[in-house]
Amino acid sequence: MSVPSRSESPQQVLQRVFGYDAFHGEQAEIIEYVCAGGDALVLMPTGGGKSLCYQIPALVRPGVGVVISPLIALMQDQVDALQALGVRAGFLNSTQDFGQRRDTEQALLAGQLDLLYLAPERLRVPATLELLDRAEIALFAIDEAHCVSQWGHDFRPDYLQLSGLHQRWPQVPRIALTATATAATRAEIAARLDLGRARHFVASFDRPNINYRIVPKDNPRKQLLELITGEHDGDCGIVYCLSRASVEDTADFLSRQGIPALPYHAGLDSGTRADHQSRFLREDRMIMVATIAFGMGIDKPDVRFVAHLDLPKSVEGYYQETGRAGRDGLPSTAWLAYGLPDVVQQRKLINNSEGDAARKRQLSAHLDAMLALCETVQCRRSQLLAYFGEQTGPCGNCDTCLQPAETWDGTVAAQKVLSCVYRLHQRRQHFGAGHITDILAGRSTPKIEQFGHQQLSVFGVGDDLDPVQWRAVIRQLLAQGYLAVESDHGTLGLTESSRAVLFDGAEVKLRRDPERRRPRTAPKQA
Ligand code: ADP
Ligand code: ZN
Repeated sequence: MSVPSRSESPQQVLQRVFGYDAFHGEQAEIIEYVCAGGDALVLMPTGGGKSLCYQIPALVRPGVGVVISPLIALMQDQVDALQALGVRAGFLNSTQDFGQRRDTEQALLAGQLDLLYLAPERLRVPATLELLDRAEIALFAIDEAHCVSQWGHDFRPDYLQLSGLHQRWPQVPRIALTATATAATRAEIAARLDLGRARHFVASFDRPNINYRIVPKDNPRKQLLELITGEHDGDCGIVYCLSRASVEDTADFLSRQGIPALPYHAGLDSGTRADHQSRFLREDRMIMVATIAFGMGIDKPDVRFVAHLDLPKSVEGYYQETGRAGRDGLPSTAWLAYGLPDVVQQRKLINNSEGDAARKRQLSAHLDAMLALCETVQCRRSQLLAYFGEQTGPCGNCDTCLQPAETWDGTVAAQKVLSCVYRLHQRRQHFGAGHITDILAGRSTPKIEQFGHQQLSVFGVGDDLDPVQWRAVIRQLLAQGYLAVESDHGTLGLTESSRAVLFDGAEVKLRRDPERRRPRTAPKQA
């Protein structure tokens, strides 16, 4: 391990260059370790202050700190911000012309750079490697390190070759950073990046100022409007939707209600996207309605709420997206509306996804964990943190803590639904949740008449619950794996577990959806 040769200590750099008084959390320990030449794997939630963990060692150690980042769109901003602090920073990526690239390369070779940001694909180019050979390197920082995980949601093939850094420059310390990793992903990152001997720094993932809420979805737009006008009038927020079309529709809808909102998704041209992003960052009151294409690396401290109108695919995704709220530490809301169609749709997406059976099992496992979080009657936060390997008690700042949900014995209700599906299958008929609800409720719809479903023994056996409750039952049966989505039309099928309920009397526990809470103040618009 080489000894830092410059005269300033990390603490002095923190004050002089960045203007901060003290390190947060484990920053001081991490920085000291990397300054001394150690390899580190850093897990810290978004907003935890990961950047300083490599920026300061890059300034303290001789040579240039090379930062590998997939966020090409943010490099210019990051470099501008560093330069404004007097840090000699540059970047190399595909957005530059020859002249810009040459200037950066010359500065690097002249020893005039403290930090160099590199897109991972640059390292595929032999000329880049030869260029780095001719420079003195202080450290490699691998940002968004979870991108190396093939099972994760942000996989970047170019990240796989980053293990080559260690082979080519064995004496240069490496620091890999991410805001998202379960224990399994962490092990995968360490293995793939050849960080077997790295020290792991794992910060708490708790974001105590975020109030987590997951509500049954009935009329999502109206519910969103109530959230905004009732609790977040005039605030900045992000609304996540699954599809580009629903992003556009929702942004339109909010604008028509007089709420400033902009769409953001990969189908918009890059000029519009950049414009919307910068307006969102600049303006005090703006709602970004976006697909998950938006947000990685966005550092806006005063996002007061993150609303999901569709179910995220994984707990990691949910945590990342909700983590964009309240980075300034002030009270903020993470709100998700979730319903039966979400489960059907996500299961369908997995059925139709590319990839082998192992990949599908992975996706299902991710979704199951997310569904378990939605259906839990325990504290949301402690379940979320348990997913990241942290054990905590009830938090007092989530919906299930503040308004406890009950479970009820849903065995008989489950038997009714499952027998209905079973009877239909005996007739080689396959239907979705809507029709099954109609059969249980004993409603005479044209479709019921057409198929003669009044004759089924289960017709009308469900008058103990209303249609909304039946849909909640079916949603939970799907979430818990007692039902499967068997086709693109959302028709429902039985599973191994449903057989246990139908034939072996297995018990089913269901969550009673809480009554919808009225917003604290009435919405302005009816
Ligand atoms: P991350 O990359 O982990 O999401 P950042 O490195 O972008 O987080 O830091 C989040 C915010 O916190 C930034 O505005 C940063 O300047 C600020 N910050 C980081 N460390 C400190 C510190 N020790 N004192 C004060 N502010 C800090
Ligand atoms: Zn709680």
